[in-house]
Amino acid sequence: MYRFLIWLALCLPIALASAQPSTISFTAEEQAYIARTESIKMCVDPDWMPFERINEQGQHEGISADLVQLVAQRVGLRIELLRLKTWDEMLAASKAGHCQIMSFLNRTPARDQWLIFTDPIFYDPNILITREEHAYVGDLRGVQQQIVALPRGTSIEERLRRDYPNLSIILTGTEQEAIAKVSNRTADMTVRSLIVAAYTIKKEGLFNLKVAGQIPEYTNQLRIGVLKGEPLLRAVLDKGVRTITPQEREAISNKHVAINVQSRIDYTPVLQVAGGAALLLLLAFMWNRKLADYSRRLEQLNLELERLSVTDKLTGLYNRVRLDAVLNGEIDRAARSGQPFGIILLDIDHFKQVNDEHGHQVGDQVLQGVAGLLAGNTRKVDTVGRWGGEEFLIICPHVDMEGIAQLAEKLRQAIAGHDFPVVGQKTASFGACTYWPDDHANSLVARADAALYAAKHQGRNCVEVL
Ligand code: GH3
Ligand code: MG
Ligand code: MG
Repeated sequence: MYRFLIWLALCLPIALASAQPSTISFTAEEQAYIARTESIKMCVDPDWMPFERINEQGQHEGISADLVQLVAQRVGLRIELLRLKTWDEMLAASKAGHCQIMSFLNRTPARDQWLIFTDPIFYDPNILITREEHAYVGDLRGVQQQIVALPRGTSIEERLRRDYPNLSIILTGTEQEAIAKVSNRTADMTVRSLIVAAYTIKKEGLFNLKVAGQIPEYTNQLRIGVLKGEPLLRAVLDKGVRTITPQEREAISNKHVAINVQSRIDYTPVLQVAGGAALLLLLAFMWNRKLADYSRRLEQLNLELERLSVTDKLTGLYNRVRLDAVLNGEIDRAARSGQPFGIILLDIDHFKQVNDEHGHQVGDQVLQGVAGLLAGNTRKVDTVGRWGGEEFLIICPHVDMEGIAQLAEKLRQAIAGHDFPVVGQKTASFGACTYWPDDHANSLVARADAALYAAKHQGRNCVEVL
């Protein structure tokens, strides 16, 4: 019951925050402030992906960058980024008054010394990560003799020591190390931010891990920090922060990590059905449903992590991890059954020119366009993935040499005949081959690669089969 109340207290503000006013009404004082303010200087964490970083071009990017820009746009302020190398330098600059806002941080007593904060702009639950085989953890209090790996000096460490003295904690130098220790069996679990964990697990390829539970009381509430002397600025930003809907937050976090966090459960129908029934009975019922929903949510999170781990972020096609697995599976099957299968490797022609002439973003759009054409012109049984850079691999069951050549030719024509936005026509070269007895993944791909090389030497925009 106690936990239910905590949960209600946590979820209610999120539900209330979802109301978006159509226009913001500012006081006369706030309007005057906006009118006279040319730009606001901002400090950020230069290296905290996927939340934020300063990229090679000196631009602020990540979840926080998108959110803060949205707020600034809505309230009509322009933001100017202060470019320093480290988080410590940024903190020092903020304390010295060189930037009026800090983009994205938890509120702590230490930071209250010089900052005032907006309402939370983003919620990020802290989750328990274990290896795949570990049982789900409903309540950390019941866990005995488990080793928990945590990065040194974080607020989570402090809180876990205080709230759960039953856990044995080992400390690591970095975030990645804590997660790696669980993966390699040096520790049983770790507690990390969902967003950072999903990002790290995918980046480091630690696919034997799962989300085994959540600690609702430990949800990070990330806010914009404003210098104490600028209450008017905080009031203006707060009005912008409140216009951001949960859907917008989710879309922005999906763009950078592609993970769905279900932030609240809708009990309205349950409440209506129960009507005037005894309150205790109702609460007991809700509690049971919460438990059921909770484990469904964990399942969903795990499915999402699994999907993430095999998906290429830019194109939405399968990534190399999945392609390798499917390839090995097909080789096994072909070796056992004698059924033929083939693969097609293709590489976009003169792709570097696209980036050089039109920029990386247009290059990315071409990659997405090609991915769409490949997915749309292959069979359901084929596996289409991004092999790397501007190369794609397609694994085609039940085809012989003639079949694979036809499929590759069809794809070649689909790309060559397509009108891409900005760049117009683009072509690709294709290398294809079929499975030979005793082939393994490397020998098969090497043959497709040799065929692709031959196609490039033929003058590109053609298919070679070996
Ligand atoms: P060729 O016809 O011989 O294949 O020429 P090419 O220019 O396509 O080949 P090259 O290997 O020289 O260039 C590939 C380029 O693809 C270089 C790299 O910057 C770009 N690239 C790789 N991955 C991405 C990506 O994710 N987005 C964008 N925009 N470009 C990428
Ligand atoms: Mg290439
Ligand atoms: Mg190329």
